[in-house]
Amino acid sequence: PRFTENSRLSYNKQRAPATSMASFELKEKMAAATDDKMAATDDVTYDVVIVGAGLAGLSTAHSLLKTDPSLKVLLLEARDRVGGRTVSLPLKVAGGGTENFDLGAQWVGLSQHHVLDTIKELNMDIYAQRYEGKKISQIGEYRRRKFSSGAATPGPLLARLEYKLFMWKVDRLSEKVPMEDPYSSPLAYELEAHTVASYAAQNLWTQAARDAVEQSVKAVYGTDASRLGMLFFLAYTNASGGSGQLYGIQGSAQEFRVKCGAQQISKNLAKVVGHDKILLSHAVTGIDQLSQAGVILVRYRESPPCDETSGAVPIGVVTSEAPSKVVRAHRVVVTAPPNLMRTLSWSPPLHRLKQFLCDNLQMGHLYKFIVTYDRAYWQEKGLSGEIYSTGGRKVTSECTTGPMCEAYDTTTNDGSPAIVGFFTGRYAIEWTQKPKAERAAAVVNNLAQFLGIEEMKQYIDYEDKMWGTDPWTGGCPVTYGTPGTLFSMPYIRSPHHGVHFAGTETATIWMGYMSGAIQSGQRAAIEVLAHLRPGLLTEKQRCEATRTSKLREPFLAQPPSAVTWGRLTLALAGASIAVAATYWGSVGRPIDLLHRLCSHAQQ
Ligand SMILES: Cc1cc2nc3c(=O)[nH]c(=O)nc-3n(C[C@H](O)[C@H](O)[C@H](O)COP(=O)(O)OP(=O)(O)OC[C@H]3O[C@@H](n4cnc5c(N)ncnc54)[C@H](O)[C@@H]3O)c2cc1C
Repeated sequence: PRFTENSRLSYNKQRAPATSMASFELKEKMAAATDDKMAATDDVTYDVVIVGAGLAGLSTAHSLLKTDPSLKVLLLEARDRVGGRTVSLPLKVAGGGTENFDLGAQWVGLSQHHVLDTIKELNMDIYAQRYEGKKISQIGEYRRRKFSSGAATPGPLLARLEYKLFMWKVDRLSEKVPMEDPYSSPLAYELEAHTVASYAAQNLWTQAARDAVEQSVKAVYGTDASRLGMLFFLAYTNASGGSGQLYGIQGSAQEFRVKCGAQQISKNLAKVVGHDKILLSHAVTGIDQLSQAGVILVRYRESPPCDETSGAVPIGVVTSEAPSKVVRAHRVVVTAPPNLMRTLSWSPPLHRLKQFLCDNLQMGHLYKFIVTYDRAYWQEKGLSGEIYSTGGRKVTSECTTGPMCEAYDTTTNDGSPAIVGFFTGRYAIEWTQKPKAERAAAVVNNLAQFLGIEEMKQYIDYEDKMWGTDPWTGGCPVTYGTPGTLFSMPYIRSPHHGVHFAGTETATIWMGYMSGAIQSGQRAAIEVLAHLRPGLLTEKQRCEATRTSKLREPFLAQPPSAVTWGRLTLALAGASIAVAATYWGSVGRPIDLLHRLCSHAQQ
């Protein structure tokens, strides 16, 4: 079945009556709330209107209302569900029932304090991601290799050493590139022109090590190393606390899973905020701060439910003919990702540097798939279910690879066996043109090949979601910077008069992750409160609130970087030694002899 909210509801009807009733009641409640608000919008001026009910929008609302429950807050959400990039879906499992699986965000790590605190506050729980057993890697060659621990590394010893050294260097460099303003780094001028692929080509000898870098980039950013800017790669690594946090399972961002699925965090936040404050299926189309003094006019239209994966729906555009409506607010918080902000009409226009970011930051492309089984065949063979690949063998004429980049055991907390995996970057784009049945066949064939288990072809249920064609995300998991875009990065979170910006792309810690989304929402709430309820903030919070407005001049000449001075000194020292050696040292004599021979020949 196609993945739409409606089809998910019909899924629920067929398979899980309890979930179905809950969804139905939630929808009924929200529909009733919708009618009330329609009547009220003409008269009410909201304190805060929030665009988007993903984790960032819901966290903004939650933080605002926790500080002052009397604030009038309204969330406008384009989809007919809350959660944005968190979405959990029931699949058939062993034994005949259904269980929820995450087709969006799934894992959390112990250093992700913002999301862990929220999970705790909502009385939810996490459980460990399974990693026991041998893992499979196929990187830089078609041969499959088994390995025992850590993240994927290339097979050949030299390549493995090179890759480890490269990642060590990445960690050292990343310490100098803060996500808050990557261009303030002394490395900026030198690295801004590089993609990760060009930097790897310059710094790595073996193709296998370069392929391992490619595989890591594909898995984390949903794009190819030839598109990802090196400076962004370093800033992202910095925001996550180092490469060890990004790859593999133990001690990383993939160490734990959320009980009941990650969308449950969003659903529970929505409950705490109040369903009456959330208007689903209504997309904001424009923000006007000029027409009425002292208030902001937010224009929005009903946006009908659509097939989120069909690829036929334009990104960020309301396709219905529904009339435009207006709601007034003192402050607005926009949490839509930057690539969607450019579809809104802005009056006055956004600052040129913010607009530049919205136009030029790119979204990754990623398919996430889940396959359920009646037995965990891989566990029986002593395998962890982890696969790290650069795509595997070509299985069809129009697509260049297998297509799988990564897979993990996603057996549920209740023990229902399943595998989750991704195909990303150009492979995801290529495979979008294939029908779902063909994608499912390619995935299970890939699983059978990589794990060496024929039974992997006999699955119970398969579901996937291509986030690149999702109209209200336009890609995933995160927006990334290409070379030449980061000079204006601080403008991503700077307010536009009375409009503030949240969303994981504006986070400075764990950007791109659920934790980053929550951090950004809490920061935006403080900014808003500094205007509406300054007395309720601490001195520290009031200082924090002004941080995003303090922008350096983006074109200010930077002092020559330490790297350049270092190289200059080395070059000068080398040249002096060469000159000295030529005239007075051992090298001088042959050159002198050559010189004399040449003059003799000329005579
Ligand atoms: C496949 C996948 C796997 C991931 N895995 C992980 C993981 O394991 N761990 C992790 O921590 N993170 C993961 N992430 C990232 C994580 O999901 C996001 O960082 C986080 O959910 C982003 O939240 P957000 O609120 O910033 O943005 P979103 O969730 O995108 O929310 C923005 C909301 O705004 C709405 N919107 C957009 N335009 C408009 C408009 N014009 N009007 C009204 N509403 C609008 C959207 O519908 C959406 O609901 C993953 C993401 C994906 C897609």
